[in-house]
Amino acid sequence: MKPIYIPKGKAKEYGDYAINIYTGCPHRCYYCFAPNVLHRKKEDFHTYVEPRKNIVEEVRKQVEREGITNKLIHLCFTCDPYPKGYDSTPTREIIKILKDSGNHIQILTKNGTDALRDFDLLDKNDWFGITYAGYDGWYNDISTSEPNAGNPQDRLFALATAYNKGIKTWVSAEPVLNDIDVLNLIELADYVDLWKIGKLNYYPSDINWKNFGERAERLLKSKRNNYYIKNSLRDEMDKE
Ligand code: SF4
Repeated sequence: MKPIYIPKGKAKEYGDYAINIYTGCPHRCYYCFAPNVLHRKKEDFHTYVEPRKNIVEEVRKQVEREGITNKLIHLCFTCDPYPKGYDSTPTREIIKILKDSGNHIQILTKNGTDALRDFDLLDKNDWFGITYAGYDGWYNDISTSEPNAGNPQDRLFALATAYNKGIKTWVSAEPVLNDIDVLNLIELADYVDLWKIGKLNYYPSDINWKNFGERAERLLKSKRNNYYIKNSLRDEMDKE
């Protein structure tokens, strides 16, 4: 088993290396792509959530066997490293192994509250990130779009906490569900080191992607924010 792998295709835009710690994710985001990637039934993916077999030990062995060091490793691509309502101790153990071997961590989660536990393991070489899709009234819209995830307010609290601890912070505004709310957050949040912005793919949306992308980019530039526009959104922006 080689749990540390190099992502391909669209996933490459997340990072150079990745580990998927859990078999599924309980957050039930309606736009979740992971069951497709894993060739699993959606319902099974969201219902059966446990650490992949011997995942902690297998990460330890691979790091030692291949001498993996000084790499930025993304947690996670086909699951959330902090599945809400489940024991995420394996995530903490894996972070420890990676840090002890001189690697750096890039977290992406929708569960800010549980993630706070592991900030003592992270430093200025690590990245803590949240997904922020933009929400109508935060509690109302999330109940349908990401029903079992941590609420956006808690994610932003965790993000600001990480920033204040000197951990690098990033926001994955992908997929954008509410363009106005995302633009507002870009305007207001002064505790984000990097923005990654992407459109909603494969589902209908009434957002004018070209217009949104151009407004977001203008704003990010005016605030001198570091940012990355995902390829599918950039393609929309490049259309005549
Ligand atoms: S948090 Fe990520 S992996 Fe989990 S259901 Fe949502 S999109 Fe899927």
